[in-house]
Amino acid sequence: MSSQCLFCKIVAGEIPSKKIYEDELVLAFHDINPQRPVHFLVIPKHHLTSLQHASTADEPALGRMLAVANKLAVEAGSPGGFRVIINNGEIGCQEVPHLHAHVVGGEQPVGPMLKRQA
Ligand code: AMP
Ligand code: ZN
Repeated sequence: MSSQCLFCKIVAGEIPSKKIYEDELVLAFHDINPQRPVHFLVIPKHHLTSLQHASTADEPALGRMLAVANKLAVEAGSPGGFRVIINNGEIGCQEVPHLHAHVVGGEQPVGPMLKRQA
């Protein structure tokens, strides 16, 4: 755990979240500022800043993040498909420096690109 990290604090239960799923490797919770009817985040439970910092030791958690995305998307109300977005670093416009996969969807297509609302 990184003591100053927002998402590590969510993993530790020090900051509340609307949790969807948890296992030994990953945690999923609703995004606090949803951009689509379905919008949740899947994160590794251990601190990993971004894919830029990932090593082979992180591969089980990285695989699990994608493996649970479909199951959770269907259960959350996006059975016809979804989009996974992972922003990395400054160029990728990553705001929270703990790796997270956005899973977005709903009953309508999410569109060709996803632009964050102001
Ligand atoms: P990114 O720009 O990829 O780093 O996205 C960070 C995401 O984290 C944004 O979509 C925020 O709405 C979301 N976020 C920030 N704080 C929280 C929080 N406390 N609980 C849930 N989602 C959050
Ligand atoms: Zn962290």
